[in-house]
Amino acid sequence: MSNLMSNSIELISSAGHEQLSVFQDSKTGLLALVAVHSTVLGPGLGGCRMVQYDNIDDALKDVLRLSEGMTYKNSLAGLDLGGGKSVIINDRNLENGRVELFKEFAKCVDSLKGKYITAEDMGTRVSDIDIISETCPYIAGRNPEQGGGGDPSPHTAEGVFQGIRAALGFTYGSESFEGRTVCVQGVGNVGFSLAKKLITAGAKVSISDNRPKQLEQASKELGAEVVELNKVYDAKCDVFAPCAIGAIINDETIPRLNCKIIGGAANNQLHEEKDEELLASRNIVYLPDFALNSGGVIMCASEWREGGFNSKWVEGKVAKIYDTISSILKASREESALTGQIALKLAKDRIEKKRSF
Ligand code: NAD
Repeated sequence: MSNLMSNSIELISSAGHEQLSVFQDSKTGLLALVAVHSTVLGPGLGGCRMVQYDNIDDALKDVLRLSEGMTYKNSLAGLDLGGGKSVIINDRNLENGRVELFKEFAKCVDSLKGKYITAEDMGTRVSDIDIISETCPYIAGRNPEQGGGGDPSPHTAEGVFQGIRAALGFTYGSESFEGRTVCVQGVGNVGFSLAKKLITAGAKVSISDNRPKQLEQASKELGAEVVELNKVYDAKCDVFAPCAIGAIINDETIPRLNCKIIGGAANNQLHEEKDEELLASRNIVYLPDFALNSGGVIMCASEWREGGFNSKWVEGKVAKIYDTISSILKASREESALTGQIALKLAKDRIEKKRSF
């Protein structure tokens, strides 16, 4: 057996996923993987990524890891939803045949009969979700015209803001943003919205982004200082807020960090599990991404409640991220445990409680 094959088998069996489906259609060029990690709390909700992966193993790793992450994110957010995720192996900028591809993908999601609910993610658009919705009901993140909540990013940003507020209180004894410095990596949908909230609350915000035009525009609009792309890890600040990509907390960046708190929207910020220990040894408080960035999925979940999307319900649930982060930080201090471990335990406990009910 090749190494690749044995790694993949190990991968599939190790995290206890309930289902992994592969869909292929030569006519449209669709190659998609759908992973359902857990349906104990409800259907597995998680977005669909469209990425031109180098090989199937990378796509497999991504879909398994991300769907498991959704189980814990949804559990910790108090949602009656499990974890799932899908990846389509294709160019995110595909235009020719895009509609046909998503029509075919709709059949795949529909065939799972509600075990998996899909939504927009990296490389997919609300217009793709609209196409899926024409023939498949198992979607979230609809346009407001179709009774959905629209762009989830402002809700994600609000949740991150509330979590950082809790962490400031825990670390400095005051939740005030006045005079606090925050460095935001990535001023896309979430990062920009977060930076705006932070500035309004009195923080001094610096920003960084790998798209020069986006950065210049954001800096002008926000009046925020710009940090050079590769200097972002050295920036002296109270809070470093990763809102761009994953795995940026790693062996190379940890020794350089000059902050007290890490709290941002990006998924899977730690390159490896051991990185949180390294952060703790440098007295840096890490706010687990899946505990902090659930605002968007809360909005999507609202569409699946009786009566449909309800902004008041969403606001109430997003505001609770403050309480969740406070509880995690308190338990971490009392039990001398890492924040990620506490968050994972809380998420798993809720699932186990439901399983044994
Ligand atoms: P986005 O694509 O709108 O923004 C990401 C920004 O990061 C872009 O402006 C991009 O140019 C920039 N960027 C990419 N690589 C970079 C790098 N190496 N250094 C600096 N900047 C870089 O995405 P988004 O919707 O704002 O999401 C941001 C992150 O949060 C993603 O990791 C996403 O998976 C995660 N997230 C988003 C949501 C949501 O509601 N949108 C919810 C949960 C998690």
